[in-house]
Amino acid sequence: MPNSHPQVHILGAGLAGLTLSQSLKKHSIPFIIYNKTPSPPHHNYGITLHSSTTSLLSLLLDTPLQDLRQKICIDSFRAHCGKLEGILRSSLGSEIKWSHKAKEIIMVGVGKTVVWKDSHLPPLKIKDLVVDTTGVHSPLHLKITAQPPKVLPFVVFRGTRNISKEV
Ligand SMILES: Cc1cc2nc3c(=O)[nH]c(=O)nc-3n(C[C@H](O)[C@H](O)[C@H](O)COP(=O)(O)OP(=O)(O)OC[C@H]3O[C@@H](n4cnc5c(N)ncnc54)[C@H](O)[C@@H]3O)c2cc1C
Repeated sequence: MPNSHPQVHILGAGLAGLTLSQSLKKHSIPFIIYNKTPSPPHHNYGITLHSSTTSLLSLLLDTPLQDLRQKICIDSFRAHCGKLEGILRSSLGSEIKWSHKAKEIIMVGVGKTVVWKDSHLPPLKIKDLVVDTTGVHSPLHLKITAQPPKVLPFVVFRGTRNISKEV
């Protein structure tokens, strides 16, 4: 039976785009992801995950929590970002289009056209949903919202302490 859901176009294959893709996959909603880099990055840093996030990821990926924690967790709070992205990507194949850097999104009425930086790629005309997950520093969302990102009225400090071997 043909899938009646319109295809969702996702710009950006980072944690947000990949997690969204896995959710759409679980609900049999067709999607396609475009990422600017020619191949997957391998981020080698830890990100703090709330325990409820790990539980939700376990459900989303149909992976027992214990197995998931063994694969991605550095300690009880942090996950290895590159490994997590790798797991989220592992069941995706041709749904990810690499070397597709969106330069701008032109919106006319309900229609959207994504123009790529590589002028050899034909512009993508979208009647359905396009989701921008190109990250907080990406200038793309300005094309969509026409507003700069909202700055929250608080500051988060991140501290690192080096402890010498003698201590
Ligand atoms: C050292 C370090 C520690 C961190 N710790 C934490 C933490 O503890 N908790 C936390 O929540 N976050 C942490 N972060 C931030 C974390 O990396 C981000 O929260 C997370 O990566 C955001 O995911 P994202 O998918 O929104 O964006 P990104 O990971 O930035 O993904 C965006 C994707 O879009 C692609 N892209 C960008 N522009 C375009 C374009 N024009 N066209 C097509 N593709 C494009 C990029 O190649 C990338 O793959 C940390 C970051 C660093 C560097």
